[in-house]
Amino acid sequence: MRDVAGHAQAQARLARAVASGQVSHAYLLTGPESIGKTTLALAFARLLLCERPNLETGDPCDSCDACRKVLHGNHPDVMLVEPEDGKRLLGVDVVRESVVRHANLAPSQGRWRVFILPDVERMTPNTLNALLKTLEEPPAGVVLLLTSTDPESLLPTLISRCQLLSLHPLAQSEIERLLIERHQVAPAEAQALAALAQGRPGWAVRAHEHPELREERKQLLGQIIGLPRASRDERLRMAGVLAKDGDMARRALDEWTLWWRDVLLAAAGADHLISDGEARREAERLGRAIGRPRAEAFLHALLAARELLDQNVNARLAFDVLMFDLPAPTASSGRR
Ligand SMILES: [Zn+2]
Repeated sequence: MRDVAGHAQAQARLARAVASGQVSHAYLLTGPESIGKTTLALAFARLLLCERPNLETGDPCDSCDACRKVLHGNHPDVMLVEPEDGKRLLGVDVVRESVVRHANLAPSQGRWRVFILPDVERMTPNTLNALLKTLEEPPAGVVLLLTSTDPESLLPTLISRCQLLSLHPLAQSEIERLLIERHQVAPAEAQALAALAQGRPGWAVRAHEHPELREERKQLLGQIIGLPRASRDERLRMAGVLAKDGDMARRALDEWTLWWRDVLLAAAGADHLISDGEARREAERLGRAIGRPRAEAFLHALLAARELLDQNVNARLAFDVLMFDLPAPTASSGRR
């Protein structure tokens, strides 16, 4: 799947499944935001439906009628199932209409009907129930590709019905190559973006197209890594800045969570952190100072806050609570 950057293992597994005729009815692709989960799902859909796939390399041809339709988002047998405009959670009506009803129809062109459901943690309980029924008794020819940034929050009954593919942050060099080769970014710019991207090719491409994202991220990250040393008053003031509206709060939480994963890695003594420069040094210092249990507990608090925001809980309140729970570098002052 040559247009997918990185994720060689996951790509190889999917390619083998197609080549050997052993495609499962459901896959769950997990990994951080903007890492390429939906991109990989779409590439897999093309491989399944392509009229002239190269099964040895696992590449769709990208030029047949089926490939072109998937690339343009108008293949009748590939559905990207997302919440309605302006909603955060996927509603049960959308799943009934697009997945449950269509799954029972024969594919209109190829052998497969492919449903791609990004971020399945953002579902109402009713939606999940409707989806579980399709996962329990999938009609022949149906392939469900689910993605999640937070698989620990998913029900075991959902996870157990899927083949799991966990995607990991990309190396800086892989992101740099992607930007230069596929997006014609100048090498110096590509290097700078890749260093900031924390392993997320999707973020790097967006930041190239929207330079203001890059500035915002630098600023956010600077604020976030300063929080553990900040006084209580200063933390509460920052809660007001970071949670000034729901969208800002979500982006801040995403950055915080990504960086905190590095704090946890450092606390566990791992060396494959994805942060760079000052953010990396701070993650290492803090991780060593607070230790693994506290680092892990706060990562869970961040993920829980993200879920609360998706349920429209007041962002300021959620951030105030995080500021109180945030571990400080000195062991005795975790809750000052
Ligand atoms: Zn093709």
